[in-house]
Amino acid sequence: MECQDYGLKRDTERNNLNLNPLQRGGVLPVEARKALYEFSDGYSACDYCAGRLDEISKPDIKGFIDDLATFINIDHARTVHGAREGKFAVMHSLCKPGDTIVIDGNAHYTTHVAAERAGLNMVEVPNTDYPNYEIRPEGYKEVLDDLNDNGEDISLVLLTHVDGNYGNLTDSSSIGKIAHDTGVPLLLNCAYSMGRLPIDAKKLKADFVVGSGHKSMAASGPIGVLGLKDEWADTVLQRSDRHAVKELEMLGCTSRGAPIASLMASLPFVIERLKKWDEEVNSTRKFVDTMERMKGVTQLGIKPTEHDLVRFETPLFDNIAENHPRRGFFLYEELKKRNIVGIKRGQTKWFKCSIYGFSKEQKDYIGESFVNIVNKYLDM
Ligand SMILES: *Cc1c(COP(=O)(O)O)cnc(C)c1O
Repeated sequence: MECQDYGLKRDTERNNLNLNPLQRGGVLPVEARKALYEFSDGYSACDYCAGRLDEISKPDIKGFIDDLATFINIDHARTVHGAREGKFAVMHSLCKPGDTIVIDGNAHYTTHVAAERAGLNMVEVPNTDYPNYEIRPEGYKEVLDDLNDNGEDISLVLLTHVDGNYGNLTDSSSIGKIAHDTGVPLLLNCAYSMGRLPIDAKKLKADFVVGSGHKSMAASGPIGVLGLKDEWADTVLQRSDRHAVKELEMLGCTSRGAPIASLMASLPFVIERLKKWDEEVNSTRKFVDTMERMKGVTQLGIKPTEHDLVRFETPLFDNIAENHPRRGFFLYEELKKRNIVGIKRGQTKWFKCSIYGFSKEQKDYIGESFVNIVNKYLDM
């Protein structure tokens, strides 16, 4: 058998400004790139393992896991392979197949597939629809009260802290209180928040939190963070009968090399960058202003935005596309000429983007580039 080279060359980030929100928070600092290299071999985290990954002291995974728990202000932390694996571990250990859970209408698909895999029924709290698509605490109260009135047992309430469609930041502490008032724990999905903005699980009234290293914590991944309150430790961190030290939901050990090394190396960088979150939100708001000054571009979701992920409705670009020889591809191609990528090819009716983590000059350049592209066609 002969293999080809599989096209593994990638210079996207070296040569372009990438606006794909999925990728903005996962860019590695130099320290993490070095750690990634040192730990690139398989099982490289396991040189000094005595049976439990989270208790290894060289490298100091134990100290790191303790720091992670402090970082999000919760009793216990573990690394998992992603936010989705964290959600599944909670659902699988807490609920039985056939149980009902309550989730938000902006939940990520990974919430749905984790729940499906665990055999759970999902009841959705709807968003407020166009144009804000907000998830409100009253919605959770209504749904939970209705289910209670029908005598339905709810085993878990899940909330997407910041959703990936509109970048809406939700009111976790109010929703946590509503869940607790009906005796149900809250799982907070922080894939788009942990590592970008400060997370205090106690203040947010979350019993469980999950984060995503490759989404928002400047890690190569795949890696996620699972945090839980002590009262749930016996359930979620239950040990194997046959292998006394191994935790079942972790399948013994989770990240065993490069992914955890990159997350560990990035933590100090991430702690520093949280301090600049307000600046990030302000520059995103400024960018939205620049975009909305063009007639036919409107930001959807909560306004003014409270997150770097923004979704625009863009009839302006769609109109240009209609008369353009390259049709819908014009926007992608015009941006690419300016070394800006990350908006899907062919998409002009709406798009999501983020300028998180760029320098002020780069952010200004991105806003100006959109304006210049539009001016070019309006003058024609
Ligand atoms: C990206 C994303 C996820 C998936 O995160 P993984 O770490 O890749 O599992 C889950 N939820 C939300 C809201 C996301 O945006």
